[in-house]
Amino acid sequence: MTSSDLHAFADIGVRRREEAPCSRALSPSRLPGLDFALNPYRGCSHGCLYCYAPALLHVPVDGWTAALPKRGLLRLLEKEAASVKGVVGVGTSTDPYQILEAEAELTRGCLRILNDASLGCCVHTKSDLVLRDVDLLEKAEVGITVTNLSDTFSSTLEPGAPLPQRRLDAVKGLCEAGVDVFVMVGPLLSPVEGREDELAAAIAASGASMVMVDTLNKRTDHAPLRAVGVTAAAASCAIRFKEAASSLGLLVRDAF
Ligand code: SF4
Repeated sequence: MTSSDLHAFADIGVRRREEAPCSRALSPSRLPGLDFALNPYRGCSHGCLYCYAPALLHVPVDGWTAALPKRGLLRLLEKEAASVKGVVGVGTSTDPYQILEAEAELTRGCLRILNDASLGCCVHTKSDLVLRDVDLLEKAEVGITVTNLSDTFSSTLEPGAPLPQRRLDAVKGLCEAGVDVFVMVGPLLSPVEGREDELAAAIAASGASMVMVDTLNKRTDHAPLRAVGVTAAAASCAIRFKEAASSLGLLVRDAF
């Protein structure tokens, strides 16, 4: 191990012990079908090049991928969950199953509290780690994002997230366990152009019955995407993908 490896290692250790301040667990949500938003981490280690969460939250992009767990979250959630009713969106602005969750189990703790409080729950992720919590997802709806089928593109566009097939395998596993699951295809990007049928077929094969389609958000200028030669997919790509998905029996919806 070189000295720079040791530095990187020590840095991760420090970050793991750090926590982000948190004054409340649930925030009101304006997303359709969701009454509250719950994000167990500040920042997101998936590091997607098209991420617009920092712009949405008005926080700096620098440091966004050095995610931190929120301090005292479970205690706060326990208190707040006891006095509200409705559906909680888990992972509305950061992924609840990002790298830290494997050890921290903060999202798992949140799901347990939401279940105990009989609150509805909609979980959104790009990670197959969600399968670990299948015992707590019996009444939840789960959305798993798949933007393309190429390991090469996925590693470039979503460097910290599991590869596409692992996500599709997670969809399959959740379907087999009887969890209500849909696939989010979004943002639709240029690598999907000409491969719409292939993507629709892979999603249908995973056992999902519904797919939501999203386009590239215009809140940021997406310079990191342009730097790797990727752009928003042409409008015709969304049309072709939706037609392909419908022809395979998938229910197709536009996202939000
Ligand atoms: S998973 Fe979502 S929140 Fe995390 S980096 Fe990617 S787009 Fe941003």
